[in-house]
Amino acid sequence: MQNDYTEITEGFAVDYPMAQPSSAKLVLFNEELFERLELNWTEEEILSYLSGSSSVEGNPASALAYSGHQFGHFNPTLGDGRAHYLGTTQGHNTSDLQLKGSGATPFSRGGDGLCALGPAVREFVMSQAIQSLGVNTTECLSVITTGNDVYRQGYVPGAVVCRVASSHIRVGSFQYLAFQEDKTGMERLLDLAIKRHYPQIQSEGDDRVCDFLKHVCNNQISLIIDWLRVGFIHGVMNTDNCLVSGETIDFGPCAILEAFDFNAVFSSIDKQGRYAFGQQPNIAHWNCARLAESLMLIMEDDEEQALAKLTDVLNDFSKSFNEAYHIMWSQKLGLPEWQDSDNTLLSELLVLMKNHQLDYTNTFAALTSLAINKKVLFTVPVELNEWLAKWQTRISEFDAAEVATLMSNANPAIVPRNELVEKVIEEFYETGHSPILEKWLPLLSNPYEYKEYDKVFTSRHSKPDTYQTFCGT
Ligand code: AMP
Ligand code: MG
Repeated sequence: MQNDYTEITEGFAVDYPMAQPSSAKLVLFNEELFERLELNWTEEEILSYLSGSSSVEGNPASALAYSGHQFGHFNPTLGDGRAHYLGTTQGHNTSDLQLKGSGATPFSRGGDGLCALGPAVREFVMSQAIQSLGVNTTECLSVITTGNDVYRQGYVPGAVVCRVASSHIRVGSFQYLAFQEDKTGMERLLDLAIKRHYPQIQSEGDDRVCDFLKHVCNNQISLIIDWLRVGFIHGVMNTDNCLVSGETIDFGPCAILEAFDFNAVFSSIDKQGRYAFGQQPNIAHWNCARLAESLMLIMEDDEEQALAKLTDVLNDFSKSFNEAYHIMWSQKLGLPEWQDSDNTLLSELLVLMKNHQLDYTNTFAALTSLAINKKVLFTVPVELNEWLAKWQTRISEFDAAEVATLMSNANPAIVPRNELVEKVIEEFYETGHSPILEKWLPLLSNPYEYKEYDKVFTSRHSKPDTYQTFCGT
């Protein structure tokens, strides 16, 4: 393990001790990820390193500085207020290991630096589920209860999560260096980001900066397309929660879309719907614009020309997004080709789904089960009868096997349902483990498998309008 961030600039990675657990207990562990990381730690080391009891192999833990636009408002000094970066692994899969809930740091701004068990469990379940859904994401290696209580709405058990990311370089990390006007620091951060994520970039000077922005935009597009495809609502797409690698990070107020609605919002603090389901593409574009703005610091051209070059890259975002967006819907609908009239077919379906509050996953799963000749598995809602006939006529123009493959790869049969995630959390609070999760996690790990499921795993939230999620808990 090594620390890749101390070299960026002074104050970028601040060594800081972690809070000591009074009795660490491993409650969730991702064996498969552990193997992939090639860590070779003993059980004792796992517990000691991943609970924050001791730093890893002598590397002092550190908190990273970053800025961020939170709900559109710029905050120059955010940083890891309740997280410690442990180091970067040197195996095949270079990854940052970070503990969350490991105590206050110089960036805590009055917060306690801790994490309650519930949100830790949520991060573990959601990250593993969406990774299995094929979405680019940070992963969760472990959840360890600390034996210390944390105060939220009353006292609850505290936990530490170990997050694994291909890096923790955020749009907000570039914003931080831009705010400091630290050109050398930003050049170093750009080098690190390119080395980690985009080694294919061979250009130099301003072209290299623009190529980097282009790659970040493309990865953000792929990410958002996947979120839309599986019905994931991140909930707090602030620039500090936007990684330049294009991985999903921070599962605080996230949710799964159940009753279809582009305006769906679950986060208790997102009163304006800034981060609503259907707003996510616009926000990703907006976040990339904040990255472009920051990168201006290291452009060599005069201001006007530099701005024009970066703007050109940003202008491609919408075009590339729209192309990918059509491909996504054509896959979900089983159409190997898209023609103009398919826009009507799609919008008719979406209007019906919205008006009748149809379940996003189950509706597409029902169409898929028809296409793969397993129609007993999911039922097409009666409200779609008329539309269904039009869709069936359209797909009959194509090879049935091709339609089936497209749909079964794009439409999951099983997703991390909001209400069930809450039940898992309740079980952890009540007994320290979750029988539901033991049955559910293997299913979530194979979400495109069309087979008979216990209804509990495919039923949606009983009161879709009242479900709420919370930040920073
Ligand atoms: P998040 O909503 O988790 O992305 O956090 C936004 C910012 O608030 C980050 O700088 C976090 O480190 C910080 N933060 C969130 N919760 C806490 C906490 N309990 N104590 C200290 N800082 C926190
Ligand atoms: Mg965050």
